[in-house]
Amino acid sequence: MRVDLNKEECIGCGACVSLCPKVFVMKGAKAVVKEKETEESCAKEAADSCPVNAIRII
Ligand code: SF4
Repeated sequence: MRVDLNKEECIGCGACVSLCPKVFVMKGAKAVVKEKETEESCAKEAADSCPVNAIRII
């Protein structure tokens, strides 16, 4: 699956990084995707937990 993170929408809460550190990392005040193509199921959990729905899984 492919992970998309909308930087404009991210509020930097850190939830995705806590849930799925293999795929997400904080960069300054925002999260970024370090593994855009992944099989990590936690990426989906992170998307579901993002308070502003900034993460899309395709
Ligand atoms: S969970 Fe959403 S708002 Fe929080 S850091 Fe990740 S992308 Fe940003």
